[in-house]
Amino acid sequence: MARIVMKFGGTSMAGSERIRRVANIVRRQQAAGHEVAVVVSAMAGETDRLVNFCREANPLYDPAEYDVVVASGEQVTSGLLALTLQALGCQARSWLGWQLPIHTDDAHAKARIEGIDSEALLASMAAGEVAVIPGFQGLSDANRITTLGRGGSDTSAVAVAAAIGADRCDIYTDVDGVYTTDPRIVAKARKLKYVTYEEMLELASVGSKVLQTRSVSLAMKEGVRVQVLSSFIDDDSAPSDEIPGTLIVSDEELEGLDMERQLITGIAADKNEAKLILTRVPDRPGAVATIFGPLAAANINVDMIIQNVGRDKGETDVTFTVPGADLLRAQTLLEAQKEAIGYNRIITDGKVAKISVVGVGMKSHAGVAATMFRALADRGINIQAISTSEIKVSVLIDEDETELAVRVLHTAYGMDATDQAA
Ligand code: ASP
Ligand code: MG
Repeated sequence: MARIVMKFGGTSMAGSERIRRVANIVRRQQAAGHEVAVVVSAMAGETDRLVNFCREANPLYDPAEYDVVVASGEQVTSGLLALTLQALGCQARSWLGWQLPIHTDDAHAKARIEGIDSEALLASMAAGEVAVIPGFQGLSDANRITTLGRGGSDTSAVAVAAAIGADRCDIYTDVDGVYTTDPRIVAKARKLKYVTYEEMLELASVGSKVLQTRSVSLAMKEGVRVQVLSSFIDDDSAPSDEIPGTLIVSDEELEGLDMERQLITGIAADKNEAKLILTRVPDRPGAVATIFGPLAAANINVDMIIQNVGRDKGETDVTFTVPGADLLRAQTLLEAQKEAIGYNRIITDGKVAKISVVGVGMKSHAGVAATMFRALADRGINIQAISTSEIKVSVLIDEDETELAVRVLHTAYGMDATDQAA
């Protein structure tokens, strides 16, 4: 027997037909002898609809009342799933966020989970009941309903799994796992059987949005094993303890699981970056601080940074990237500081993309960056900036070359699926 948390996203919960399908998947796990808690999202599109109502009611809406409204989408689906399970002869009941409760801070619309009271939940599961929990919801110390931010049901599921000491948290979605890269760009992308928390965080933060990033950090912190898999695969015979999707685990667990580990795990592309160049910045202590201080104060995240060695006249160019949505704000701020910083000109470019190769394998191997630069150079793709971490190399290129770069790199690292493996 295992204790399993199963989470179903909005597309899996969209309508009675699909909820019945979900109920059948849940029933199979319970019939296999497992203790099951289910976390559900609102029906696809429902949260957007509710957010719109709030905007129409009052453009300057009170976030506490916003939470009351948007949390309702998950209340509906949790009740419906419990009803559907009962119709199939399964014992089931819903546990709303405030009933457990799921304690959060009071940052409405983006609350953080502080703890979950799991006693009643565990007792009901031990008695053979499927526990159905609406994702996204919590309760603040002031006794008000909170929500966890868009996509927050993933985080609810991981938090529930941690609280009840689940053996696994299965996240059912409309993709069947995590791929080496976006299969819409590279037809030969392969589904990964395993990925580490760190890799998943890097892949998620640079643009493959399978899970809410916060849920991955939480899983890493709490050591929750997460599996991403599809709820749209018809396979009644699948044994319950097999791993049909992608399992997200720690580095240590992975070493035992995957002997044929590849050097690179995945390639991500992010078009939401913008580049700024400040020319002829004085090359003296404190100059860079006067650029990035005001940006930090305005909560603008700076990602890649390049400062050249000063050539002559004690001047240098400083290049960096910010989220595309913040480009105008950053530019305006820096123009206001022109005197204080002492630069000559600002050049901006919103048509850039960040391409990242990610893999824990590169911790112990040299040459990953060299392979990347060579492969891009062979195709005439110019690199405008570079940044690295222990398990990632990122380059900034022209946005129009994104697809080409991802394909070229996927091949260069030998990641293309062979016909048998595909
Ligand atoms: N329903 C919420 C949203 O759309 C939470 C979730 O589905 O994860 O953001
Ligand atoms: Mg989601």
